[in-house]
Amino acid sequence: MKIERFAEGISLKRSVEAGTADQRKAVQDIIYDVRKSGNAALHTYTERFDGVSPGELLVSELEMEEATAALTAEQLEIIQEAANNIRMFHEKQIRNSWFTTDDTGTMLGQKLTPLDAVGVYVPGGTAAYPSSVLMNALPAKAAGVERIVMVSPPGKDGKLSPAVLAAAKIAGVKEIYKVGGAQAIAALAYGTETIKKVDKIVGPGNIYVALAKREVFGDVAIDMIAGPSEIAVLADETAIAAEVAADLLSQAEHDARACSVLVTTSTSLAEEVAEEVTKQVALLPRHDIAAASIRDYGRIVVCGNMAEAVEAINELAPEHLEIVTTDALEIMAKIRHAGAIFIGRYSSEPVGDYFAGPNHVLPTNGTARFSSPLNVDDFQKKSSIIMYSEKAFRKNAEKIAAFARMEGLEAHARAIESRGVNESGKGPE
Ligand code: NAD
Repeated sequence: MKIERFAEGISLKRSVEAGTADQRKAVQDIIYDVRKSGNAALHTYTERFDGVSPGELLVSELEMEEATAALTAEQLEIIQEAANNIRMFHEKQIRNSWFTTDDTGTMLGQKLTPLDAVGVYVPGGTAAYPSSVLMNALPAKAAGVERIVMVSPPGKDGKLSPAVLAAAKIAGVKEIYKVGGAQAIAALAYGTETIKKVDKIVGPGNIYVALAKREVFGDVAIDMIAGPSEIAVLADETAIAAEVAADLLSQAEHDARACSVLVTTSTSLAEEVAEEVTKQVALLPRHDIAAASIRDYGRIVVCGNMAEAVEAINELAPEHLEIVTTDALEIMAKIRHAGAIFIGRYSSEPVGDYFAGPNHVLPTNGTARFSSPLNVDDFQKKSSIIMYSEKAFRKNAEKIAAFARMEGLEAHARAIESRGVNESGKGPE
């Protein structure tokens, strides 16, 4: 890994997931076909892209049972324990409706309502992501969403991964369809004969999934367009190089465009981590991906002092930040921009990926400057409540009508005056 000195205005090499014009056109065509031909289009595209005929799109009870039986008791317990932690964490985020009154008898408030229906995309392809099921479905459950629909592309055997189905069962997701890619996003957004449309689509996926989410946004809500994964480690001389290197590689193995950065005040740690990364990357099963990510996006930045290091991190606004220093809690207080902050040697990033409880769907690409991890608020909406008493109305009617006229909206003013504007209930002379 390249070692560089901190310089003003340092920033992550951005790799925005825009997609090519051909990919955008392909996605638009798929969405058009699904809107026009419904299930028939889902079957056609599944055969074309996944190389299999899905048969029934809906996963049956029998398939759910078979999936659970295919996992060991130990594997099921691990998923269950992770689910318990994630559920508990997200239940703490639940907010309640609130109402306030004043001495005129006016009531104002905010009424919270869970979304009616949410679609969760779970990537398929070669890997299985049961953690994605838990991280996307459990906050929706905690918010009170009644209908949670999961979609995922079938494997070559026409089935979904047992681990993904077992996680869905543990998360309480019952409506699951074997369809992936842009066609699944279109089905969730617009509905087909079998799949009823949803209000919001969440979950990660490849470029076709990301482009399709961008395309349907507005007709349905979406969580975010996630870019490649990122990790920044902020470390001083007390950190252990082999551990820091292993954590940097934990993200590099995700994607050749993943970004792993070490920001440190110690030149000797920088040199040791660079050596360790070279040593460890060669031994990884996903060596090619991790090595490409480290080569193209890996960086080690040496800062003159901790204040500079904090400045560099705030500039990066990383998706994941590990702080491995003597006074980690004090430094955490100074971090303004990061999706998730892992504090101390024992909070290695995969602790949060799978198990601790906080969500692993996090803002990437510097968007931690203005966005938050996926959370219960993403699955609830708010309605404002306004109940004016007659006393409050008469006290304010003339001001409201005058305000309307400032905007040149006469009908607004007359709506107020139709009820009379003064104590006697009469309008203006
Ligand atoms: P996927 O389910 O996202 O995509 C598979 C689908 O892509 C196929 O079903 C097919 O419909 C579509 N597709 C493939 N080639 C196509 C083509 N030429 N034209 C149109 N559509 C085509 O699975 P994947 O491909 O394995 O990708 C998974 C992605 O999810 C990876 O990028 C991975 O990094 C990401 N991921 C992210 C997180 C996270 O939390 N950020 C977690 C897990 C996975």
